[in-house]
This record gives sequence, structure tokens and C-alpha cells, in this order.
Amino acid sequence: MSRDELPGWRSIAIGSVIPEPATARKYRTGDWRVFRPVIDLDKCIGCLLCWIYCPDASIQQSDRKVKVDYDYCKGCGICAEECPVKAIAMVEEA
Ligand code: SF4
Ligand code: SF4
Repeated sequence: MSRDELPGWRSIAIGSVIPEPATARKYRTGDWRVFRPVIDLDKCIGCLLCWIYCPDASIQQSDRKVKVDYDYCKGCGICAEECPVKAIAMVEEA
């Protein structure tokens, strides 16, 4: 994007003001990630600690089966750290 294409300050929301609800859904914050959590479902015991601890609610679960929502996971590694059976590996993004 060239400098001429950048929005002027009048068109940018005032700092800390959320102009409409749920705006964060539009931002695929998973793009920030350097490492991605990969779950080994053969090791997983379904304790859901990763689901509880994830600060971004990026672990989804259904019937104690977990999966990562890579659109929003930022790769912080907390889930891997907290997993009691080390079923989550942090793998460098390609
Ligand atoms: S790496 Fe961090 S953001 Fe991603 S699923 Fe694990 S705890 Fe959540
Ligand atoms: S913390 Fe580990 S064992 Fe527990 S549900 Fe998550 S991946 Fe499975």
C-alpha cells in the first residue's frame, strides 16, 4: 500500500473507541503467529486444560475432542505448557 492509499487520520477510529460490536472477529490475528500448536490426538486425554487456559479462546472442543482455531490462535504456547501429557507441540510456521 502506497502512502497515498493510507487512510487519513479523520477516517480512523479515535483511540480505544470500539465503533461497533464484535469488530475483532474481522481480524485474523493468527497471522501474527511464529509457532503453531499441533495437538497429537493419540496422546490427548481430553482433560480440556488447554481449552480453559487459552487466553484467546482459540481451542475449540466438542465431546472433549479439542482442535485449534488457527484463524485466531497467536501461538503463545500456553496450551502446550499446561497440557499434562505433553500432547501439544509448538511447531515453527513455514
Ligand atoms: S498457542 Fe496460545 S493462543 Fe494458540 S491455542 Fe494455544 S494457548 Fe491458545
Ligand atoms: S490439555 Fe492436552 S490432554 Fe488436555 S485436552 Fe488439551 S491437548 Fe488434550
